[in-house]
Amino acid sequence: MKPAPFDYVRAATVDEAVAILAGSNGEAKVLAGGQSLVPMLNFRVVDVPLFVDINGIEGLDRIEETDGGGLRIGALTRHSTLETSNLVKDRFPVMHEAMKHVAHLAIRNRGTIGGSLSHADPAAELPTMAVLLNATIITANASGGREISAAEFFIAPLTTSLTPDEIVVAVDLPGLPQGSGYGFEEFAQRRGDFGIAGVAAIVKMDGQIVTKARIALMGLHDIPMRAHGAEAALVENGIDAAAAAARQEVDPMTDLHGSAEYRRHLAEALTRRALITAIERSH
Ligand code: FAD
Repeated sequence: MKPAPFDYVRAATVDEAVAILAGSNGEAKVLAGGQSLVPMLNFRVVDVPLFVDINGIEGLDRIEETDGGGLRIGALTRHSTLETSNLVKDRFPVMHEAMKHVAHLAIRNRGTIGGSLSHADPAAELPTMAVLLNATIITANASGGREISAAEFFIAPLTTSLTPDEIVVAVDLPGLPQGSGYGFEEFAQRRGDFGIAGVAAIVKMDGQIVTKARIALMGLHDIPMRAHGAEAALVENGIDAAAAAARQEVDPMTDLHGSAEYRRHLAEALTRRALITAIERSH
């Protein structure tokens, strides 16, 4: 199918982009990699009278080191850059691993971190990474901008707390504790498909004891979620208790790809696998 007619502006600066959004009465939309927006437009799932293309804005595709082992990732950073960046691999190997599961190379070469977070698909890898890694999303609008924690950014499937006149400019990831172990497990019907479910975990050990844990669940709830019950169960009672808690915590849907009960089973199985790997790696 072909999209309905639309107008198109290529913004040269963030100020220009947010000024156009502010003046459009909520009708304009940002165009980044186009890998979600353009298919939706072609299927006429969305009707966008005006696109503000941000691909020409200089400096939005940088990855910079921040204090304490963190990174600031520009909104236009492509999935393939995240996949191949040594900084990402060294500081956030769990993200490096997760990126290999995102679609196919051609899509990863265009898709951006700002676009993936703003699109807010609960089965997508980067929103899951944002909640796992306690990301802060930095935005701009005509009156300045704000910082939004990942926990407050995702509201519902394909819905964020962004206002129509606001764009994501960068994502801050605070550094992880030294010696953290990580695991990422995803189940998809074919390589490159959206995962039916996924689990990402980070653990910090003191000898044989897990002292801190973060577990994020993908495709198992209406938003990417932290499994706080499973995290507490891991520290108190170990891996099996954590996996069972993850199964209880999720509220998955039934669709063509699997029932809610099947997804609950995946929550338990993938949590167990991700934690076993994370604990092994922390040694
Ligand atoms: P766009 O498509 O340009 O925009 C998406 C939405 O975000 C739009 O509403 C747009 O207005 C808004 N937006 C974009 N950038 C900004 C910004 N900086 N500030 C505010 N709003 C913004 N994704 C996965 O995670 N895992 C997968 O396995 C996967 N498989 C895919 C398979 C196929 C066949 C396709 C076509 C896509 C797949 N994707 C997958 C989606 C892909 O990752 C997209 O690139 C991503 O969801 C959106 O990023 P984008 O830069 O292309 O955004």
